[in-house]
Amino acid sequence: MSNPELVEKIENMARDHGYNCVGHTTADKLHPRDAVRDMCAANTCHSYDRNWSCPPACGSIEDYAKKFSEYEDVVVFETVAEMEDEFDVDTMLDTNDDHKERMIPFAEDVREIVPDCLFLSAGPCTLCEECAYPDNPCRFPKKQFAAMEASGLVVSDVCKSADIPYNHGKNHIAYISCVVF
Ligand code: SF4
Repeated sequence: MSNPELVEKIENMARDHGYNCVGHTTADKLHPRDAVRDMCAANTCHSYDRNWSCPPACGSIEDYAKKFSEYEDVVVFETVAEMEDEFDVDTMLDTNDDHKERMIPFAEDVREIVPDCLFLSAGPCTLCEECAYPDNPCRFPKKQFAAMEASGLVVSDVCKSADIPYNHGKNHIAYISCVVF
C-alpha cells in the first residue's frame, strides 16, 4: 500500500539534494518492456555487456517485473538545465555529472530510512572509475545503480505516470532517475 508520508519525505529529500523536478507514481505502473532491452542490445550507449548494472549482467526483464511487484511507490527525480544552444555539450556533461554525483549522498540518506529501496539511474552505474565487469564481482552490489532503461522502463512513460515533464522544451536537458520503495 502506498505510503504518502514516506513519499513526501523522499520527495523533499530529493529536492534538498538539488533535484529540480520531482514526482511520484506507484510501482504497479512500472512496466518493463522487451523493446527497451532490444535498444540496450543495439549498444548505442556502448555500455551493453560492459557493466554489472547493464544487460545482460543486471538480470532479465522478468527479474525486474518481479522486483517491481514487491514495491509500492516510486519517486522520480530530474536534474534539468538550460543550454546555450542544442550543441552545448559542456552543459550536457556537467548536468549529467551533477545528477549522478548528488545521487550518491541522496541514496545514502534514503537507504537509512528504506534500506531495501531500488535506485534506477540515468545511464549505467559509474560508482567506480572503471567497472569490475566482467573479470571481477561488482565492488558495491548493494549500492550500484542500474539504468532505468536496463530495467526495461520507458523513461518518458514513467515521467508521464509521475506527472512531470520528460521533455523540458527547446535548449533544455534533463537527466532522469527514480527510486522504488
Ligand atoms: S559499483 Fe562499480 S563494479 Fe559495481 S556496477 Fe557499479 S561501476 Fe561496476
